Amino acid sequence: MYIIKVISAALFMLFLSAALTPTVICAAEPPAQTRGLSIADSVSYDPALKRIYTGLLTVSEIKTNYFYDEHTVHFANSANWRMRRVFLREPLLREALLLGDHMVIRCEKGCFAEYIEDGENSYIQLTEPKELYETVVVIDPGHGKEDYGAVVNRTVFEKDIDLDIVLRLLEAFENEKILLLPTRTEEKYVSLEYRFRLANKVGDYFISVHNNVDERSQNTGGTITYHHNHETDAPITSRELAEIAQSAVAGRLQTRDRGAVNSDVYRILLNSKIPTALVEVMFMSNPGELARLEDPACRQEIALALLDAINALPPARNLTARTS
Ligand SMILES: [Zn+2]
Repeated sequence: MYIIKVISAALFMLFLSAALTPTVICAAEPPAQTRGLSIADSVSYDPALKRIYTGLLTVSEIKTNYFYDEHTVHFANSANWRMRRVFLREPLLREALLLGDHMVIRCEKGCFAEYIEDGENSYIQLTEPKELYETVVVIDPGHGKEDYGAVVNRTVFEKDIDLDIVLRLLEAFENEKILLLPTRTEEKYVSLEYRFRLANKVGDYFISVHNNVDERSQNTGGTITYHHNHETDAPITSRELAEIAQSAVAGRLQTRDRGAVNSDVYRILLNSKIPTALVEVMFMSNPGELARLEDPACRQEIALALLDAINALPPARNLTARTS
């Protein structure tokens, strides 16, 4: 809550940010307790190493949850920064906001931050997920908030079913070589641009989870997975990714297998630069399939089917070869 307040307050300070050289994040008024602290000694950023040097300030606490795009850094020695906000055009680090005895680093979603003291320096190391995992899968529950997706009986919303399936998948997921990064984990609006940009930025594979509707017939049912092929460096194509997801879901759920189908319609398929599949699990307009989708045990099975598909993906990288 406190961080949110800091950020909203920072909006008023937007135009007060001083222009700085690219490597220095922030030059603060030297706090009384750390007298003698020069600009160069305080906080600077090395873009080549992706390190934020904290100079004489010792970090006491750093939040390192990759689900968030913010890291709050608490300094142990009571620095007393006036609030400053600095925007950076670095790929990982977007801005740093300093207030009182802490700094909020806003980086790309999926970025990891770790505080390191190596005897000579203390710094915060920013790491991209691709440096830590053989495979990064961006998983995307469709819709959210005012974007309902399919609506049946005015009470059942596709956005809720899509989210529940992905939350179950995240809960069941256990594979230390793969990072499963969701585009949302709560009931909130997420733009299509955000979804495919995140996938293009940090992902190796992109799977979007939806449920279908056929306005014309209640009898239409089954699983269908869309893809749109484009050249990538990945070991498999979008079509192959769609086939893996399709056969895992249709096979485990024993739905009618409508196949992996090329589509020129969906924006996330057209705009993604990595192998991407959009799974339409079942038809909410089909009463039998809707009953299944409303059954938590069935949604768990769908999650496990997607889990099988993800575990079956070829690794995007060999990390041992890279680091040795
Ligand atoms: Zn949908």
